[in-house]
Amino acid sequence: MSSSSPSPVIVQFQPGELIFATGDPGTEAYILEIGQVEIFIDTQEQPVTIRCLGPGDVLGEMAVIDAAPRSASARALVTTRCIVISSQQISERIDEADPVVRLVINTLLNRMRTLTSRTDNTSERHAPDDDASLTESTPSLSGADQGDQPHGQSHYQSQSTYGDIIDKMRLESELRTAIASDSLIPHYQPLVDLQTDQIVGFELLVRWQSPSRGRVSPGLFISIAEETSLIIPVGDWALKAACQAAQSFQKEINRPLFISVNISAKQFLSPGFTQQLADIIPPQHIQHIKLEVTESLLMEGDRAIQTLQTCRKMGFHISLDDFGTGFSSLSYIAELEIDSLKIDQSFVRKMLDHKRTFTLTKSMLAMAHELGMVAIAEGIETTKHRDLLKTFDCHIGQGYLFGAPMPFEDALALLTSQKWSVSSRI
Ligand code: C2E
Ligand code: CA
Ligand code: CA
Repeated sequence: MSSSSPSPVIVQFQPGELIFATGDPGTEAYILEIGQVEIFIDTQEQPVTIRCLGPGDVLGEMAVIDAAPRSASARALVTTRCIVISSQQISERIDEADPVVRLVINTLLNRMRTLTSRTDNTSERHAPDDDASLTESTPSLSGADQGDQPHGQSHYQSQSTYGDIIDKMRLESELRTAIASDSLIPHYQPLVDLQTDQIVGFELLVRWQSPSRGRVSPGLFISIAEETSLIIPVGDWALKAACQAAQSFQKEINRPLFISVNISAKQFLSPGFTQQLADIIPPQHIQHIKLEVTESLLMEGDRAIQTLQTCRKMGFHISLDDFGTGFSSLSYIAELEIDSLKIDQSFVRKMLDHKRTFTLTKSMLAMAHELGMVAIAEGIETTKHRDLLKTFDCHIGQGYLFGAPMPFEDALALLTSQKWSVSSRI
């Protein structure tokens, strides 16, 4: 987690205030939400306005893309509000783009820089909008192709798509701030031994209470974090929280217990992941941490398999999450020593009313048994679900029947209200 203070997500400028000046380093770009901005070049004689931007336009992205100094200045004409996009947010997307797209971006950028310097040298006066390509604003969103479209809407992008992009960027910036200011909250959902009814562990599920949006669904912000490198600090944060929780639970109840932590493929495949694991989790807690990875990770090739094996050698338990929904190859399961199979909740939801799902669920659990793996089922909402899974010899259950994800204090209270019991299935 970064210790530096987070940069603001929204910035406001007064009329006449300079947003950036020619020659400044390009540390961030802006999406103009409200107001009007003039882009101009200081020539030897007088400033030349090259464009006026309005709500929905992007400015300042050129210097961010190629890490060169600003080639033009920007000034607020009226009270103006902008969403800040960091250079990291942009560079991550460019780095992951198709090489052809990167080439096109570079070519366009060079062309725009050449045109800008030509304007600088000739001191020609340009009326606002007369050469829209000479700006620090994004051509695809607000540039020359725009014609008579409203601000921020190109031929290729509908207003709603554009709104979605802005909202996503804003959400990403807010999430960045939430990580830096330590405002993610770990929740814990009990995992119960179906034979003894005892809690044997918890799954850590992250929660985010955004000051402006309220609670944001993990389904939404985890996928945004996965698209960017934000999943790495989120993942590290989750591992630290899991380690602390394992320690605290242990102290209170004095019996073995495990914490399952979801590890995204991007985090798992990031360079130095196993070293990071070793740095965060002290050796005495490794046996209490289960790494939940999805089965599609197994299809990521040799690197994923090697990392899995290293984690196993280090002593971590591995659980294959959402089993039955991905594209795993059974031959990997034959080769790899995976500790648990976690049957996806969609099977549990349907198994009582759908004969073929019933058969599949039973078969997957039997397979886990035969391979000596711990069989886990998630999404158990009713006693009927639980009772049927018990007849299938499912070892561990998880779902609203036993408890929804809850804050640490509630998880601890639930745990201490149970009798002491040792389970060999962790
Ligand atoms: P998941 O790992 O499959 O987590 C189980 C999801 O099912 C959780 O949703 C949980 O609240 C929900 N659930 C549990 N019991 C029941 C039930 O009985 N019925 C129903 N309908 N749902 C149930 P949640 O917390 O919204 O998390 C969604 C996904 O976000 C997780 O799916 C996981 O993929 C991801 N996620 C959450 N926390 C983290 C994290 O710390 N790191 C990573 N990488 N991913 C996370
Ligand atoms: Ca999971
Ligand atoms: Ca799951």
